[in-house]
Amino acid sequence: MKFSVLVPVLALVSAAVVSAQPFQLEKVQGKTILLFTPHPDDDTFCCAGTLALLAKQQNNIHIIIYTNDDKGSSDLTMTSERLAKIRKAEEEEASRIAGIPKQNIHWLQFHDGMLEYASPKDLVEEVTKIIRTYRPHVILSIDPGSETVRWHKTDHRMAANNTADAIRAAEWHLYFPNHRLHDGLEPWKVPVEAYYYVTPRDANYWVNIDEVADLKLDASLAHVSQWAPSIDKYRPDWDPKVREALKQKLKARTPKKDGHAVEAFRIATGFNQQ
Ligand SMILES: [Zn+2]
Repeated sequence: MKFSVLVPVLALVSAAVVSAQPFQLEKVQGKTILLFTPHPDDDTFCCAGTLALLAKQQNNIHIIIYTNDDKGSSDLTMTSERLAKIRKAEEEEASRIAGIPKQNIHWLQFHDGMLEYASPKDLVEEVTKIIRTYRPHVILSIDPGSETVRWHKTDHRMAANNTADAIRAAEWHLYFPNHRLHDGLEPWKVPVEAYYYVTPRDANYWVNIDEVADLKLDASLAHVSQWAPSIDKYRPDWDPKVREALKQKLKARTPKKDGHAVEAFRIATGFNQQ
């Protein structure tokens, strides 16, 4: 058998072995996982359940946040500086609830809404360097989208495409060769890419979060400033009745599949290599 014929046969055998044990995102154990998020809350809203399950499995999870979210308030007495501090504390609390310590949260410190005005080359290099430094088994990132990209918020568009571009650059040593030559960072091909904020049409994987669904609601509500009444007139606490009413409302809106609370992802299966 010619080698060129043998290779596809071996690939088929290998694929059969792999398909006998389908990949399960929530079962990943003892690995390094990076989550890239445009704002401090998208990571919570998309994935707090999955993160909580992965944290229980002794994974080393790091959250990389592109912006400081210093614009999201209708309170006319709020300032960007104050809001950035509030958002940082809220993100740390939400992450704590999910089982991720604050030292594992990394802020790239762009201003809210301004990510698209950053230098694209500098931004992709910065994220490429983070990937080469941590060498993650899994990256979670916002889906560039076949439809949603048209209506993503500005930071969402930029973060989605930038992270996808950095994942690609990280595996080829001739992109940003200074990382290797000056910093000793070797290229890294990310084994698993899982994209969140995915359309129902594009989703191809659902994590059952039944056992941590309540925890996810608490993590979401830790972003106090992003919900009424605090978004209109900031207060750091809640009227317990208002909080409980919102929690029940969010609970009713939890995405379900086959009767289970789920978080949806698009796991890269090669479509991203075109
Ligand atoms: Zn966002």
